[in-house]
Amino acid sequence: MNYDKLVLSAMAAREKAYVPYSKFKVGAALLTDEGKIYGGFNIECAAYSVCNCAERTALFRAIYDGYRNFSAIAVVGGVEAEEDELSSYCPPCGMCRQALREFCNPDKMKIILAKSVTDFKIFTLSDMLPESFGPDNLGK
Ligand SMILES: [Zn+2]
Repeated sequence: MNYDKLVLSAMAAREKAYVPYSKFKVGAALLTDEGKIYGGFNIECAAYSVCNCAERTALFRAIYDGYRNFSAIAVVGGVEAEEDELSSYCPPCGMCRQALREFCNPDKMKIILAKSVTDFKIFTLSDMLPESFGPDNLGK
């Protein structure tokens, strides 16, 4: 599968990040099984503990709209000055991995870490969250 559109959507979302403190901008683009893309960006607050990551912003937007099944998410991130070419990949934090686990088949969900549309790595959620706890552990 070609993930160019998903990576470009993550890059566009990153531009909207609200990061007045860290200046570390992250964008994510989540692909539903129906083919719809939801963008998200990180949101910082002066009280740091209530900040929200780009991945969960995208996920919660999609959940709100009624989507429950996802096949891929692209994530881009870096300091604000890195507008054209990011210097490193930006993997999802543990909380975001666990939140994705609630709604995604961990063996099928693709996580695309991108610096650009031509420089990216693809993982599964199982790669990033092995032996995970999920709805099946509670009989769902
Ligand atoms: Zn996160």
